[in-house]
Amino acid sequence: MRYVILGNGVAGMEAALALRRRDETAQVAIVSEEHDHFFSRPALMYVFAGQLALKDTEPYDRGLYERMGFERVRGRVASFDTAARALVMEGGGRVGYDRLLIACGSKARPAPWPGSDGPGVHGFVTLRDLERLDAEAKPGGRAVVIGGGLIGVEVAEILKDRGLHVTFVVRESWYFPLALDTREAALVAEHMGHHGIDVRLGANVAEILRGGDGRPRAVRIAESGEEVACDLVACCIGVVPNTGFLAGSGLALSKGGAIETDDALRATAPDVWAAGDCANVTWADGSRRPEPLWYTARDQGRAAAASMLGDEVRYRRGTWYNSAKFFDLEWTTAGFVPVTLNFDNSELPRPDGVREWFQRVPGRFESQRIVLKGERVVGFNLLGSRWNHEPLLSWIHERRELPWVLKHLPEAQFDEEFSPRFAVWPTASVA
Ligand SMILES: Cc1cc2nc3c(=O)[nH]c(=O)nc-3n(C[C@H](O)[C@H](O)[C@H](O)COP(=O)(O)OP(=O)(O)OC[C@H]3O[C@@H](n4cnc5c(N)ncnc54)[C@H](O)[C@@H]3O)c2cc1C
Repeated sequence: MRYVILGNGVAGMEAALALRRRDETAQVAIVSEEHDHFFSRPALMYVFAGQLALKDTEPYDRGLYERMGFERVRGRVASFDTAARALVMEGGGRVGYDRLLIACGSKARPAPWPGSDGPGVHGFVTLRDLERLDAEAKPGGRAVVIGGGLIGVEVAEILKDRGLHVTFVVRESWYFPLALDTREAALVAEHMGHHGIDVRLGANVAEILRGGDGRPRAVRIAESGEEVACDLVACCIGVVPNTGFLAGSGLALSKGGAIETDDALRATAPDVWAAGDCANVTWADGSRRPEPLWYTARDQGRAAAASMLGDEVRYRRGTWYNSAKFFDLEWTTAGFVPVTLNFDNSELPRPDGVREWFQRVPGRFESQRIVLKGERVVGFNLLGSRWNHEPLLSWIHERRELPWVLKHLPEAQFDEEFSPRFAVWPTASVA
């Protein structure tokens, strides 16, 4: 049996390893254009900042392909010939398969404003994006970073760290409303200000203005008409599936370009599966969208491999957890944390029966939010100190109540040497 995996990101690599674990003799070929080895995309910012070499972000040693007997095909897939069961490589050559997994990830959503096309407007998703930004980001320059999500704040941080003046333009009325409520977002915005970032909230971009040399000279804000002067623009308004090469293949794609899959992550052609950022999957609320996240890409890769091996598979995202950083502000989330802002910038009401325990730790950039359904703890959103998600998830599964969780919370704290031990402050309230 010849398995071909397109993409050596987390979905593709975890699928390859899961296949090998179960079938020692299978042929496994991995096709990738970006890099010879699997690296951690969330760690790209540290590579840009020079804090890590790319090699340091590779989760496995460089002998892995050889040891596992994986065939490496380095190059860009130009199209997919479903009838002939082959990937068609740029510059010629075909890669045939018995079973194929497409795990081709995503790319930066292109900037949609007038003036976006041309030099000096950057995304930050791939190694090539990193190289292009690296070549243009000069100390003393001025950058406008657009987009209030995790990638935007990372790019703001690395550009600031390099010595650029950074204006961070966010369309929503508060930063990262997918994950933070007004109190937490205010804390993060205050923290960014502390680091010298000029944060503009509730600001829509109208246009990127270019100078006589064709390079960006300013970003015009729709509401105020202000022209924010800049030498480069980083557009961090999300990602889109990297599936352009599938046009004309007959494989069903969603409106947004994600590969339609069934519960077992099978695509719509025989013996073809999809996993990771490029796959359209069913969410807990029944909607269908990709899950552009590291842990879900890993889980989908493993589930797709089991399905390719003939197991009965029904992929559903497990209890959610994630962690990231806003500058040096740690963030850990686990379980159900309601989204607080609608796409049209209107505030979303809290779901029925949901209450929240919240405190901001006095004198520190630190807060804890615990989400309750009835008396049961169902989610955590913890800012400004480091937490181990595993006990948090167990307590959710064990249906623990708030008093018990507050008593045991210090057991989930990672960095007592840097932050004070968790305590309940008079600022705490449940509402
Ligand atoms: C800056 C940044 C920070 C992030 N931080 C977080 C975080 O904190 N937490 C979190 O959960 N998620 C984070 N993410 C998202 C996470 O990195 C992705 O969800 C995850 O990497 C997706 O994995 P994947 O295997 O689906 O795709 P990818 O990692 O994108 O891999 C896709 C692979 O497909 C290959 N490929 C694509 N098209 C072709 C083609 N035509 N021909 C040949 N090869 C091709 C590429 O070379 C690559 O090997 C972050 C992403 C970015 C960009």
